[in-house]
Amino acid sequence: MSEDRSTAESLRSTRTYGQVRCMNPSCMGRITPDPGAPKAKCPRCGSEWRIFWVKPGFPRVKGPVWETSQKLAQEKWAAIQAQAQQKKEEN
Ligand SMILES: [Zn+2]
Repeated sequence: MSEDRSTAESLRSTRTYGQVRCMNPSCMGRITPDPGAPKAKCPRCGSEWRIFWVKPGFPRVKGPVWETSQKLAQEKWAAIQAQAQQKKEEN
């Protein structure tokens, strides 16, 4: 298991390990979800995000947790995704 250990150690040195980016375009703060937590709250803007765990220690933002209607939330989320895709293509 020496390989696993070195991988974990190299990941520990990166700042984003175990963190996700707030998907609020006007915030982009860093969120550190509790291990295994299904959602996490941004400490900066207070937005709540649904968390998907790729594997232990590797959270991903799955989508927004909004109190508004699901349809509105999905439309907003689609817009954010489109924006991110556009940025990727520009680079
Ligand atoms: Zn935020």
